[in-house]
Amino acid sequence: MKEIVTETIVDYENHVNLGMARLFKIMGLDTLEWKASGTMIEDIEGNKYIDCLGGYGTFALGHRPAEVIEAVKEQLDLMPLSSKVLFNQALGQLSRKLAEITPGRLQYSFVCNSGTEAVEGALKLARMATGKNRIIAAVNSFHGKSLGSLSVTGRDIFRNPFKPLLPEIEHVIFGDLEDLAKSINHETAAVILEPIQGEGGIILPSENYLAGARELCDNYGALLILDEIQTGIGRTGKMFACEHYNVVPDILTTAKALGGGVMPVGAFIATPEVWEVFNTAPFIHTSTFGGNPLACRAAIATLNTLEEKGLVQKAAESGEYLLNRLTDLAKNYPDIINDVRGKGLMVGIEFQHESYGGLLISELFEAGIVVAYTLNQQKVIRLEPPLIISQEEIDKVVDALKNALTKVVELAS
Ligand code: PLP
Repeated sequence: MKEIVTETIVDYENHVNLGMARLFKIMGLDTLEWKASGTMIEDIEGNKYIDCLGGYGTFALGHRPAEVIEAVKEQLDLMPLSSKVLFNQALGQLSRKLAEITPGRLQYSFVCNSGTEAVEGALKLARMATGKNRIIAAVNSFHGKSLGSLSVTGRDIFRNPFKPLLPEIEHVIFGDLEDLAKSINHETAAVILEPIQGEGGIILPSENYLAGARELCDNYGALLILDEIQTGIGRTGKMFACEHYNVVPDILTTAKALGGGVMPVGAFIATPEVWEVFNTAPFIHTSTFGGNPLACRAAIATLNTLEEKGLVQKAAESGEYLLNRLTDLAKNYPDIINDVRGKGLMVGIEFQHESYGGLLISELFEAGIVVAYTLNQQKVIRLEPPLIISQEEIDKVVDALKNALTKVVELAS
C-alpha cells in the first residue's frame, strides 16, 4: 500500500504539479482517495472520512448514488457518446426537465461538460442576443478559469497573469446596488452574478439585492445571468438559490451537482427571446462531448432522485440544523471564529485569521472529516456536505470541529 502512495506522490511531483504535491503533504493530506459511497470517502488504507466538502457542491446525492450509476450503466450499453447528427433522446429529455425545474420562462438549454463552459456559453449568448459586449460582474466572484469566464471572475490573483482578458468587463462591489447603478448603462450586454458567492467566502447578499439588479438590467436593456453552478440543484434548500429572492434571470448556468457526482455535466438555460439568436444559427455554439447521452442520463436520474427523495427540502432542514449548531459553537470561540453563515447546506465558517482555517482543515482530516477553504477567501472554510447527510453525521462533524477548536486554542496560547 505504502508503495502505491509513494509512487502517486512522486507522479504528482514529477508529472502533475510539484507545488500541489507539496501543499497536500504539508497539510497532512498525504494519502490516496480510493473509493467512496454515500457521504463517505475511503482512502487506500481503509480510513474513512465524512465528505463535508462534497466536491465543492458536486456530490449532492452523495458518492455513487445507485439511481445515477444504474442510469449511466444502462446508457453505456446503448450508446455512450452522441453521433451528433441524429436526434438524441436523452438531450431532449434533460433540456425539457431543466425547463421544468428552473423558475420563470427559462426554456432552452445548451448542455456542456463543466461550469466554466456553461459560463463561456452564457457570455457568448448574452453578447449575441443583445448585440452589445459590455459585461458587469462582481468583485470576489468566481465563474471559472477559462479565458472568458476568467474575465468575469473577480479575483486578481487568478486574472493578472493572463491579461489582457476580454475587453469591456467591469467589476462592481457584490451586494452594493448603488455601485451597480453607477456602472450599468445602455451599452451593457449583461450583469453576471452568483446569487450567493461561493468561492468568495459564502457571501449572502441583502434580501433586495438580486431584485434590484434585475430591475436595473430591465431598465438598461441588459440581461441578467445568474451563475448557479455552486448554488443550484438543491444546495441552498431551493432547487435554485434565486428562488429565495424571487428573481428570475434571463440566463442561468448550472453544473457541479447536475451530474449526480458521476458524470461531468453543465448547462446554460435561457428564455426563448434570448435563445432566438441560437435558434437561427444552431451551429454558432457547439461541443463534441456536450450533451452526450451518458451525461444527460446521469443528470436526468439526478434530478428525478432529488425530487423522489425530497432532498431539496432536506437540505433546507439539515442546513438550518447545522447552522444553528455552528452558531452556538462559535459563541464559545469569539477570538477564533468571526462569523458563521450560509443557506441550506452551503455553509461558511469565517475565522479571525487565515492560519486558523489551515490548522482546522488538518485537525478535521485527522478526525475523519474533509473540509476546504473557499478559493478566494482563505479565512473561510466551507461545509458543503451531500444533501443526504444525516443528523448524526452533522453532530459528528460539529463535535469534531469543537475538539479541533480546543486544540487550536491550546496551540495559540
Ligand atoms: N461558477 C461558480 C459559481 C463556481 O463555483 C465554479 C466552480 O467552483 C465555476 C463557475 C467553475 O466551474 P468548473 O470548475 O466546473 O469549471
